Amino acid sequence: QIQRALRSLSIPLERLHIMKGHMMQDMCKGLCRQTHTQAKVRMLPTYICSTPNGTEKGNFLVVELCQNLVRTLLVTLYGDGNMSPHMVYKIFDMPEGIMQGEGEALFDFIAQCVTQFLAETTNPDTNTSGENLPLGFVFPFSCRQTRLDKAELLSWSKGFSCSGVVGKDVVELLQSAINKQEAGGQGGGGNWLSSWRGRKPSQPAAGQFRHVEVVALMNDTVGTMMTCSMEGRPCEVAVVADKGSNCCFMAEAFLVEITDETSGRMCVNTEWGCFGDDGTLNDIFTPYDVCVDEESSDPGEKRFEKLVGSLYLGEIIRHALIALTAEKAIFTGTDVGVLKQKGVFTIQHVLEIINNEEGTTEVKRILEALGLQPSERDCGRVQQICRAVVGRAATLYATGLAAILSYMCQTREMETLMVNVGMEGELYTGYPRFEEILQSVSRLLAPECMATLLPSRDGSGRGAAMVTAVALRLAAQRREVNEVLAPLRLSREDLEGVQALMRQEMERGLNKETHDTASVRMLPSYVSHTPDGTERGNFLALDLGGTNFRVLVVRVTEEGINIASEIYVIPASIMQGTGEGLFDHIIDCILDFQTKQNLMTNVLPLGFTFSFPCKQVGLDKALLLTWTKGFSASGCVGQDVVQLLREAAVRKQHSGLRVVALVNDTVGTMMSCGYEDPNCEIGLIVGTGTNACYMEEMRNVGTVEGDEGRMCINMEWGAFGDNGCIDHLFTHFDKVVDETTINPGKQRFEKLISGMYLGEIVRQILMVMAEKQLLFQGRPCPKLQTKDIFQTKFLSTIELSNGLALRQIRDILNELELDASFDDSVLMREVCQTVSLRAAQLCAAGLAAVVEKMRENRGLDQLSVTVGVDGTLYKLHPCFSDNLQKTLKELAPKCNVTFLLSEDGSGKGAALVAAVANRAAGQ
Ligand code: ADP
Ligand code: MG
Repeated sequence: QIQRALRSLSIPLERLHIMKGHMMQDMCKGLCRQTHTQAKVRMLPTYICSTPNGTEKGNFLVVELCQNLVRTLLVTLYGDGNMSPHMVYKIFDMPEGIMQGEGEALFDFIAQCVTQFLAETTNPDTNTSGENLPLGFVFPFSCRQTRLDKAELLSWSKGFSCSGVVGKDVVELLQSAINKQEAGGQGGGGNWLSSWRGRKPSQPAAGQFRHVEVVALMNDTVGTMMTCSMEGRPCEVAVVADKGSNCCFMAEAFLVEITDETSGRMCVNTEWGCFGDDGTLNDIFTPYDVCVDEESSDPGEKRFEKLVGSLYLGEIIRHALIALTAEKAIFTGTDVGVLKQKGVFTIQHVLEIINNEEGTTEVKRILEALGLQPSERDCGRVQQICRAVVGRAATLYATGLAAILSYMCQTREMETLMVNVGMEGELYTGYPRFEEILQSVSRLLAPECMATLLPSRDGSGRGAAMVTAVALRLAAQRREVNEVLAPLRLSREDLEGVQALMRQEMERGLNKETHDTASVRMLPSYVSHTPDGTERGNFLALDLGGTNFRVLVVRVTEEGINIASEIYVIPASIMQGTGEGLFDHIIDCILDFQTKQNLMTNVLPLGFTFSFPCKQVGLDKALLLTWTKGFSASGCVGQDVVQLLREAAVRKQHSGLRVVALVNDTVGTMMSCGYEDPNCEIGLIVGTGTNACYMEEMRNVGTVEGDEGRMCINMEWGAFGDNGCIDHLFTHFDKVVDETTINPGKQRFEKLISGMYLGEIVRQILMVMAEKQLLFQGRPCPKLQTKDIFQTKFLSTIELSNGLALRQIRDILNELELDASFDDSVLMREVCQTVSLRAAQLCAAGLAAVVEKMRENRGLDQLSVTVGVDGTLYKLHPCFSDNLQKTLKELAPKCNVTFLLSEDGSGKGAALVAAVANRAAGQ
């Protein structure tokens, strides 16, 4: 019979695996918006989104409501990694009957404890600043929290049943009780107050204290987790193995669907004691467990807790012994009446019995003291039963922990998880083998996870102080972050203003009189037709003006367009050398390409995509107005670029070159997309730089003769604002970035939008935030001082790590030799999002001006138009295009704008311009 009893108490590993699976399912159910109300594992959000980082500083008051007592605690943190906080505490016994009395009386009592404690502990020296004294409230009951300082009690437990509290915000109840005290307190006159009332006037009285402000409410489990957290050692899980049982952990915030928090992490209070209330644990319930449950005050509920909570272990053992006695397996022929007494086996008895390794003398003593007459053999068997029950509890704890760890590992998309687990409670501290079982079984069930168990030394109180401290640190930090980022956040009015100004500058650029002083040059391209799909032929194309220089051969056939191309590097020395050097280099590249492609024999028409502002005089004649994007080759500005190319060909004795068109990359992009979609009458580039072109009515183009038809206008909108008209949008960061470019004061619009600059803007912000100690805990980061070290592609990577582990951010930061915490990476993402959102919105404001003008030109109520887009920033950034399109819809609601990605736009487009020119010329 003994063996059978022991067997029923041991759970096979496969069963534990299944249980772990159930637990994980329940956790998902508890977090999901649709199912959380039915979930047994409640997964309550705590609104604690950060663990301490060691910089927390100041005085914090904590009140813990415990069974039969209230503990008050004053914690001073020194910002020293939380290694040695100073703590003073006092315990107040709860007056008779208060746990079942009126809610108001309970909170008045707690407030009185606070006041009395403060009167005794604080002296005028620590009470200097007149600031509020923040208070953290440890309230170990199930609450529906909607903020860190707003928590509605769901239900009492642990013997509490005060009236008028369930469904109320307990923070508010405590705060008003404290306010009442501070206002002169009418404490209700308990005796314990008299000593405080009798103070001499020279001693501080309640009224003279700073105002106590309840800043945070938390469960004791959360307090434990925070207590175990220190600088460089965040603790992200806590398990309480005490009379009751509970666990909390840091979950990815976006998974906590019932809150609006989507970035970073949030501590979730699992309330796993109710696991199994839907019957999933029924098969492991032994008849002893069933008896314990039936005798409890809440039969059928808290099934998991009743298998593991130390409140129940002694009872399980008592029922096992009753059953075994009835089967005559133990205590035969002796009086076992004492076993009928509920609660005779306390957890202390149980722990003493199982911790006694040498012989059974101690066991015998304990059982005899209880009034039993055990034989030697009975003692051994009782010990076996006790070990089986407590061992089972430890195994079940391990299973729960394994579920939490696997869940964290999976949702963080990690292959392995290393995590610290704070431990607390009498079962953990009282049973040395507990930790061993917890470790080994959880390793078996979650081999991908490595948990380090950390004992909580000072209970949940210190942790509560830290939660409070962290909350205040974050609130202060939030204010400062908002201050830094506010100038980068544009309102609807700001954007409408940009749109109106862009429109105005467009008009000025088109008008013959104002053209020369307009910041948006509105350069005619001499391209009057978009493709109609009938273009045919073979063409050479060049693409100069961005990160890469390319030479291409484009074959336009009935079957479609076929392209072969080669990328050539233009070294910075050539970009910034002489014009002759630059164009000689270009001819060398063409020669190399033609040789490789076997194109030396035939003379193909060449289209030249040249993405710099040019005053075009004809399709194959264009004067360079200014270099941009890092180019500065001498002797080119004011010259005809086609001529410069032809001269270089002569120098290099390359006679087989027929340049027919010079094309801006925006125009090329529009043309290449126009080949697919005849509605495409706008070209947009968001790459190294930004620019746009569109089909304008000839009658509006004051700088070219003729009123018939349309012409594609290369806006050169990158220079928008060079006359100062959008200076009000420029932040400190933008100004610094502008000053370090080779063309300060120029291309102002572009410098807010394009790939060449966004990384730099982010870098400037990060430097300021680091200086303000909002990032990296004020540690210096010399590498961040290096220009261009923060690449624009990092923005894409960082913003893509949508709510997930933010692992990629860590990789980037490692590259920058930055030791960033999780919070740092969340903040960095916010910075990147702010900068890229602004860029997309400004781009949209520019486009809104364009589409609205086109709509008005054509006298339409509604315009449908396609934008051909090119540029790596637009194509690869995870949110840029969405933000752009969303903003454009808002700013130009009468325009239905489609975006078409251009493939190889510059090359294909240049060829198509050449082809369209051929066709138009009737060839
Ligand atoms: P260009 O405009 O010179 O023709 P691209 O369209 O390729 O060239 O744009 C290059 C720019 O795109 C670079 O300045 C770089 O900052 C940016 N960039 C490169 N990769 C990414 C990325 N993954 N996300 C966002 N921007 C990127
Ligand atoms: Mg390009």
